Amino acid sequence: MRGLMQDSPLTIDTIFRHVEQHFGDATIATNSPKGVTRTTYADWAQRTRRLGGVLDTLGISADGRVGTFGWNSQRHLELYFAAPCTGRVLHTLNIRLFPEQLTYIANHAEDEVVFVDRSVFPLFWPLVDTMTTVRHVVVMEDGGDAEIPDDPRISDYETLLAQAEPVDFDVRDEGLAASMCYTSGTTGNPKGVVYSHRSTVLHTMAVLSPNAFGLSVRDVAMPVVPMFHANAWGIAQAAPAAGSALVFPGPMMQPEALANLIVDEGVTFTAGVPTIWQGVLPHLAGREHKLRDIGCGGSAVPKALSEAYREQVGLPILQAWGMTETSPVASSGVLPRRFEDADDTTKAERRARAGIPLFGVEARIVDADSLEAQPWDDTATGELQVRGPWCAKEYYNPDAGVELSTADGWMKTGDVAAMDVDGSIRIADRTKDLIKSGGEWISSVDLENAIMSHPKVAEAAVVGVPHPKWDERPLACVVLKPGEEATEDEILEHLKPLVAKWWLPDAVEFIDEVPKTSVGKFSKKTLREKFAEYSLPS
Ligand code: ADP
Repeated sequence: MRGLMQDSPLTIDTIFRHVEQHFGDATIATNSPKGVTRTTYADWAQRTRRLGGVLDTLGISADGRVGTFGWNSQRHLELYFAAPCTGRVLHTLNIRLFPEQLTYIANHAEDEVVFVDRSVFPLFWPLVDTMTTVRHVVVMEDGGDAEIPDDPRISDYETLLAQAEPVDFDVRDEGLAASMCYTSGTTGNPKGVVYSHRSTVLHTMAVLSPNAFGLSVRDVAMPVVPMFHANAWGIAQAAPAAGSALVFPGPMMQPEALANLIVDEGVTFTAGVPTIWQGVLPHLAGREHKLRDIGCGGSAVPKALSEAYREQVGLPILQAWGMTETSPVASSGVLPRRFEDADDTTKAERRARAGIPLFGVEARIVDADSLEAQPWDDTATGELQVRGPWCAKEYYNPDAGVELSTADGWMKTGDVAAMDVDGSIRIADRTKDLIKSGGEWISSVDLENAIMSHPKVAEAAVVGVPHPKWDERPLACVVLKPGEEATEDEILEHLKPLVAKWWLPDAVEFIDEVPKTSVGKFSKKTLREKFAEYSLPS
């Protein structure tokens, strides 16, 4: 017997129509060097329909890739909907990538047009001749003052929009590609992930659920995580779907500007990587705000950071885990009710975990070679593997030998994790960041967490450096808080009661800053290269 329910496709234009019909009066604010500009979803929806018309006028193919190169903004949100709702494929380019990677990605995806924020135009324009399929470059005014050359390929966003007719959105096939995003590619070439309408709608529903970000009409949401990085963690679709007001930082990503925006705009929910919140903390501490949750993930969320927020800002950090390949949100750490009466330390321990898979995602830990399941005892570790309708099955035209899925259909994450009896995930490390000492593994994440709990430490990254006897040994790279001084012994003494003796770093290097990747995570690859020849004390 078959179910007798309607078979409506799960397409992004359903989100668009929902916000257009029901939440027209909710506001979208975008920051810029010239101040905050505001609009409503009603106006945004009109403009988005016209933008659909612009894509037609420019002659973008029926499933053409529509590149973007810009900050989080209202216009970027127009592109987020106009491209997929006309059957095209949104392709967000990461503005912080190296030129060669950008060229590779734009050519690999075959972008036909790229929409570029004026403030970052000088980063993009020198590459345009290397991007073989790009026929049009559309400049978006974002308060930047970069000089725009006179070139027939360039047009102005607002001029095009003013001349265009609004179009109807009606995507019938939920399996169509809606957008694509390349992972930063710490090894090999960047790899393309292609989201479908269906995966995007299901991911949106999951992000909206209270066990994840729980956005609603009551919220003012501010995605700090870039729209060019893993879909701004789904907030760019979830906030409109829920009718949450939106606040975009635009190019104003300085910690103080972010803190001011949170306070001035009455932001209730925001999200970004740990380094962002590390920077914002001193500017937000002690101020009045309306935040109910600060989402954080993308790399390990230090317990000390979450606790500092609890003490100084009044709310701890909400950890989530995910990857570009999982749309990206796959698990989150909302505290179950039984923790209500727990003491602060127990709560902090639990918050330091990546949490429970969102409904719709299944997770397992296995031996990466044999695929043998590891017990959920919070001690055994294994490769974390996931499956679900918003997890990628394969990459877009991958290089030879790149396999994302196991033979039995699970997605390999490259993360090493333990799971407790409830299946709450604790990320031990990324496979490539584990430190291999005498055949045993040391978790760089655990060591960093322990070092960062030292009151004088601002940031710490631990990498393995070659060792003649043990293969690799940990080197701690430590950034002290401004004005602080500390010695190697002080750091090691602090660690002694916190970690196993053989985990203690062989050396501590005090550095000015931990190098960051294009999306603001610790770049351990850079540190490993820097200290490849490091001679450890014997
Ligand atoms: P990349 O960092 O390679 O550019 P992603 O942004 O897709 O690509 O990052 C995904 C990775 O980020 C995960 O595989 C994991 O290693 C790390 N990560 C994400 N969330 C967390 C978290 N809460 N704790 C620890 N690591 C995390």
